[in-house]
Amino acid sequence: MLNILKNRLEQGCKTNNYPKEKPAVFDRYRGKPEINKDASADIVAMCANACPQDAIDIANKKIDMGKCLFCGTCEQISDGKFVTFTGDFEISTSQRADLITDGDLPALAEHSKQHFKKLFGRSLQLRQVSAAGCNACEADLNVLATPFFDLARFGINFVASPRHSDAVVVTGPVSRNMKTALLTTYEAMPDPKVVIAVGSCTISGGPFLGSPEITEGLDTILPVDLFIPGCPPHPLTNLHAFLTYFK
Ligand code: SF4
Ligand code: SF4
Repeated sequence: MLNILKNRLEQGCKTNNYPKEKPAVFDRYRGKPEINKDASADIVAMCANACPQDAIDIANKKIDMGKCLFCGTCEQISDGKFVTFTGDFEISTSQRADLITDGDLPALAEHSKQHFKKLFGRSLQLRQVSAAGCNACEADLNVLATPFFDLARFGINFVASPRHSDAVVVTGPVSRNMKTALLTTYEAMPDPKVVIAVGSCTISGGPFLGSPEITEGLDTILPVDLFIPGCPPHPLTNLHAFLTYFK
């Protein structure tokens, strides 16, 4: 027992101080894109042709973060002349259209629904549904329960039953096989309820775009309140979205 206490004292507090301080992310992390509006049409077209997701709007020089896998191909082949990815992980939106961006994103807090803040500001229970995700989005939600992120300190928890949940957090491209289970989960939740789309797969189909086996966009079957882009979204992107939208 004494050894355990000694060990805890030696380790100290491991929890980060977000949102008071932004923790550092790895250099190779790709967050919010910064777009050079002066990039030549040729360079933009080259990037668009190389993009595996058809996520680049050539005419408006914008990137659809809902489709983007943050693979970095466009940054590499344009040598940063069209786009560079910054370390900014605060990239969620409450409107699907706002994910199509030239680097500017509306402040999430301004768009958040005040009644949700009022209702869930002190306690928010989440039910996660993996609708055929590859497990990376799910893993980066899971780590929010670890001491470093400690999601529970904000009164936010993942729960086992949809009947106990305020919000459904969906990952994966919503395969035909998972669609019924997802809709049944949504129906089992009490009102008022929130729908959160996590990851490119859920928002647009992601790398499975064009497959007849999936739903291309959760917002085509459920009213999505919060879009969290990424493949997978960084845990801090998820944390920022939850805190800004609900707290
Ligand atoms: S980073 Fe996004 S926009 Fe760029 S090539 Fe990859 S998927 Fe396309
Ligand atoms: S968005 Fe990317 S990480 Fe998330 S489930 Fe789809 S493929 Fe996996």
